Amino acid sequence: MRCLILSDIHANWHALQAVLEDAAGRFDQIICCGDLVGYGANPNQVVDWVRDNVTTVVRGNHDKACSGLDSLEWFNPIARTSAVWTMETLTPENTAYLRGLPQGPIQLEHFRIFHGSPADEDEYMVSTQDVMCLRFLVEGHVSFFGHTHVQGGFFLTHKAISKIPRPPLESVGQEIELEDNIRYLINPGSVGQPRDGDPRAAYVLYDTDQPRLTYCRVEYDIAAAQAQIRAEGLPDVLANRLAIGA
Ligand code: ZN
Repeated sequence: MRCLILSDIHANWHALQAVLEDAAGRFDQIICCGDLVGYGANPNQVVDWVRDNVTTVVRGNHDKACSGLDSLEWFNPIARTSAVWTMETLTPENTAYLRGLPQGPIQLEHFRIFHGSPADEDEYMVSTQDVMCLRFLVEGHVSFFGHTHVQGGFFLTHKAISKIPRPPLESVGQEIELEDNIRYLINPGSVGQPRDGDPRAAYVLYDTDQPRLTYCRVEYDIAAAQAQIRAEGLPDVLANRLAIGA
C-alpha cells in the first residue's frame, strides 16, 4: 500500500493543492496526523476535502481548540486570534467533524499515527531527549507524527535514539529504506505552515510493502495564501511567516 502522509495542513488550501498535484499517481490512500485548521484562511475548504479524501485522521491541538473542545488560554495571542476567527468561520458540519476526530495514537495495519507524542497530542517531540523520555510508549515499526512542523523524525535502535535530519533544501526527495530492527518516528513536516526553514509544503510518501519512505517538498503559491490571510484580516505575521518557513 502506497500512502500519502500529511500533517499540519493548517487551512492552507494553496499548499494542499500543490502537494496533491505533486504526489498525483504515487499513492493509494491518504493519512493525516492532525491540525487541519488554524492559522490559514481556508478552513472549510480544507476540512471538506479531508472529509471526502482522507482515510484516517487524528485530531491535532488546533482541531481541538478551534472546535471548542479546549480552552484557548494556552495559545499565544496570534494563535488565539486565528482560532477565534476559525471557530466563527467553520460551518456547523465541519465543527462537528473536528469535534468527532479521534485522539491518537491510532494503530493502523502497518503503522501508527498521532499528532504530538504517543503520550499527549499537545506535546512536542523536538529532541532525542524528548523521545528518550517517551521511548516506552513507542510501539511498532513505524509511527507518523506532526505538531513541530519540522520534517524529519527519529530512529530508535536497541542502543540509541538518533535524529533524522531535515532533508537538504536542494534535495527533491530523500528516500529511506526502512530496516527491520529499527523503530521509526517519522514527521512528514507541515503542509501549510513549515517551520524548518524551508517554506515549501512538506509531505511524505510511504510504501508499506518495501517498506520505503520518501520525504518530499513542493513549491506552492505562497503569495496567494498570504493574500487570503490578509484579506480575512488575520494577523500579518501569519502571512509573513509562510515566506520564510518559520
Ligand atoms: Zn500544527
